[in-house]
Amino acid sequence: MTAMSTMSTKSEMPEPRNLVAGRWVSGGEPSVAVVNPADGQVLTTIPDTAAEGVDEAVRAARAALPAWRSTTPFQRAAVLHRLATAVRGDLEPLARLITLEMGKPIGEARGETAKLADAFDYYAEEGVRVYGETIPNEQAGVTSIVRHEPVGVVGAITPWNYPLELIGWKLAAALAAGCTIVVKPSEYTPSSAVRLFGLLAGAGVPDGVANLVLGAGTAGRALASHPDLDKLAFTGSGATGAAITRSLAKAILTSMELGGSCPQIVTASADLDEAVAGCARRGFRNAGQICIAINRVYVQREVHAAFVDKLTAAVAALSVGPGLDDPDVGPVTNAEIRDRCAAHVEDAVARGAQVRAGGHSPSDLEGTWFSPTVVDDVPPDSLLGSQETFGPVVGVTPYDTAEEAIALANGTDAGLAAYLYARDLGEVFSIGHALEFGNVAVNNPDAGIMNAPYGGRKGSGHGSEHGREGLHAYLQVKHLRIRYGQ
Ligand code: NAD
Repeated sequence: MTAMSTMSTKSEMPEPRNLVAGRWVSGGEPSVAVVNPADGQVLTTIPDTAAEGVDEAVRAARAALPAWRSTTPFQRAAVLHRLATAVRGDLEPLARLITLEMGKPIGEARGETAKLADAFDYYAEEGVRVYGETIPNEQAGVTSIVRHEPVGVVGAITPWNYPLELIGWKLAAALAAGCTIVVKPSEYTPSSAVRLFGLLAGAGVPDGVANLVLGAGTAGRALASHPDLDKLAFTGSGATGAAITRSLAKAILTSMELGGSCPQIVTASADLDEAVAGCARRGFRNAGQICIAINRVYVQREVHAAFVDKLTAAVAALSVGPGLDDPDVGPVTNAEIRDRCAAHVEDAVARGAQVRAGGHSPSDLEGTWFSPTVVDDVPPDSLLGSQETFGPVVGVTPYDTAEEAIALANGTDAGLAAYLYARDLGEVFSIGHALEFGNVAVNNPDAGIMNAPYGGRKGSGHGSEHGREGLHAYLQVKHLRIRYGQ
């Protein structure tokens, strides 16, 4: 893509403003450039909203809470269904903004936007299915009821790799539960969020129920440490998650969806072609910039050479190009990712590993790129073998026994998702049960689906999104004990 075509896209960029109490307001002087990773051109410049602006948004959410929490789940469901329809009607412009700002292939961006709409529909329906319990009492004439009530005002801070979906899961569940919310999207991908928030009023979301503040660390820190939040929902890196936990103004509920270098185990009983296809999809989709991306692969020694040959061929065949051309793999979103990919490959090679595909950053392209890469014989204690790359790089390590594979897979701080390819049922159950991860996908590459709980363990965080659990993350229980008899 040329600078010229980027210029023609500038008209697509919405004005970078905050939405507070239903009004578009300035978040301050524009100071953070948003860059198209496919060509390095600046698309827009956003403010890093200061504490006062964030405070206004939290106060708007607090003011809107009593009326919103008093609506019925059916009224809230109607709003969410209208929002789903509005997103479907705006799918192409929303998807283009995702691709322009973070580089993913436009087909994947369309898929992400469609899933955002599905999340609104899903939580509309889940919201009307929340019901409590009655609890037996020793005393006659007394009943105990467990009610599920909205948590209150939520702060949500999100990353750039799924700019709309990661906002949508929080927004949909919070609104369905009767909470109000302030969202701070990533500074790399603000514009799809601005456009999404532009759809709220038309769908009937009352002013102040959902607020948007733009910015980077200043805005994020101000929101995370705001004393009037009831819950903070965060998706992002482990380092930022830890900083946020330290900065909370008081003990509030948190959900932390953090990173994780995800393992894939391929046993000698696996269907190798399926295992390779799963790795090529889950390792390289979204240029590997997925918290549940396969990053390190452990292959039983009998099938190791065949697996690596097949994976190398599959990865070498992936098309690479600007996201708007809808290749298999687009650019990586920023220079930090590109440089980390290079550092992980270099470190593994210095420790005896071999690059089988890719392994470099193409020098003839503007923007930020890293070739889809397969590295073999990766030492488990190398950077690639032990840390999240968050780019299009997969490292393969052979193993001999199931115990060894389990120890390698569990041997890092990551606990989000693991993948197992095996046809032997004994292996499926024994290895599947031993994996210390919140999501384990066996003989398929899709660890997260909308109607099942999704979340991490260990260094990958706590709390669930998706499913019934994802809604209950925005609800708190109350025991109501009523004496009605003598
Ligand atoms: P990041 O932690 O750098 O940034 C995430 C968000 O936090 C951004 O909005 C950023 O502006 C904000 N932020 C930065 N410093 C802050 C601070 N001190 N206080 C409050 N907010 C602050 O993460 P990223 O680079 O945007 O995203 C990549 C990471 O996210 C990867 O580690 C990936 O694995 C993880 N991730 C996890 C999941 C999951 O569901 N577990 C999903 C997607 C991404």
